[in-house]
Amino acid sequence: MKIIVQKFGGTSVASSESRQHCFKHIRQGLNENYKVIVVVSAMGRTGDAYATDTLISLAPHITGREKDLLMNTGELISACVFSSELVEQGISNRVLTGGQAGIITNNEFNEAGILELKPERMLKELETTDVLVVTGFQGISDNLEITTLGRGGSDTSATALGASVNAEYVDIFTDVEGVMTADPRIVQDAQILLKTTYNEICNLAHQGAKVIHPRAVEIAMQYNIPIRVRSTFSDFTGTLITNQSELDDQNQRDTGQFLTGITQTSGIMQFVVKTNMSYSMQDELFSLLEDSNVSLDLINITQDSVGFTVKKNKAKKVEEILANLNLAFEQRDDVVKISLVGASMSGVPGVVRKIVHTLYANDIPILQSTDSHTTIWVLVPEEQSKDAIRALHNSFGLDKPLAR
Ligand code: ASP
Ligand code: MG
Repeated sequence: MKIIVQKFGGTSVASSESRQHCFKHIRQGLNENYKVIVVVSAMGRTGDAYATDTLISLAPHITGREKDLLMNTGELISACVFSSELVEQGISNRVLTGGQAGIITNNEFNEAGILELKPERMLKELETTDVLVVTGFQGISDNLEITTLGRGGSDTSATALGASVNAEYVDIFTDVEGVMTADPRIVQDAQILLKTTYNEICNLAHQGAKVIHPRAVEIAMQYNIPIRVRSTFSDFTGTLITNQSELDDQNQRDTGQFLTGITQTSGIMQFVVKTNMSYSMQDELFSLLEDSNVSLDLINITQDSVGFTVKKNKAKKVEEILANLNLAFEQRDDVVKISLVGASMSGVPGVVRKIVHTLYANDIPILQSTDSHTTIWVLVPEEQSKDAIRALHNSFGLDKPLAR
């Protein structure tokens, strides 16, 4: 049995008119002899009658278990409306809830984790129907409580269901044409990526390129299921996300393309402790930060200084801790962290040099930096961050149109 999963987001299922575009993709899947598992989000965005945020606003005091019961109706209504219109189109189908489709979760209401996937019911249904419409964003717990997977969780449903039936593809249909090399609101000539790796996309998505939920990518990576992020409203197949092979890395290197994309994170604060601290002092500092539930990022520890960033809402707490320990420190709240992501940069000399040179030529200081195998992060002043992204995007050749 050849199976594909097609996930349609809120704007794709918002109206009768937009759903017609979804049906085209389902028809194409059927024409190619696939069984199609459709995963739907709730219809529309805030303000639309059955969108998740609208439902929440109807019962502002509801929490936990009852909130999940309420939120789950959004996807349920969406799936039934979708199913009915599919029938009208001559496409017979069956609707399943997340639980019926085999998403078994823990009891962490509103943010449930998936414990197990049981595809048997779906596989049985697919023997007698070609299309299943499954409600995204939800599951069921061992003790039959209806749960939801956290906001944006329909992407997670899609890759989890795809993994459970070993789908050939999980298509994430949305209102953009794919994952871009940078935010097009900042970089005018940002390009759509034709392909990228799970790893790169995790870095890009965590940093605010909000096209696909990072948890969904993690599941696809674990089961090695290819994802395509693509537009409901066009035939273009979008951005393919896979486990790119070493060979492809080499190809990318040969063409001098080391970066895949650039993103930024704001809302952070930089701290640099300028005191020469003993080991025990450092130990005390980090354990106090841990006890106060402060998560650190961009950490640089040397013999005579310790630098890190925290989310702005944790800044007061950090100031308190540093002051109590009598440590001299500097802080800056006008900073942006830029992430330069590219799986093929690992082991290549000169990437850092290019970053330093580009920023230097534009008079943009690097306030701090750190790196991993696939990403280099630099902290820059907020007012220069857009210029920095544009300059880096250009000097790494990301603005060259990619052949479609
Ligand atoms: N409807 C849910 C939300 O708005 C899940 C999703 O759309 O992915 O968060
Ligand atoms: Mg979403």
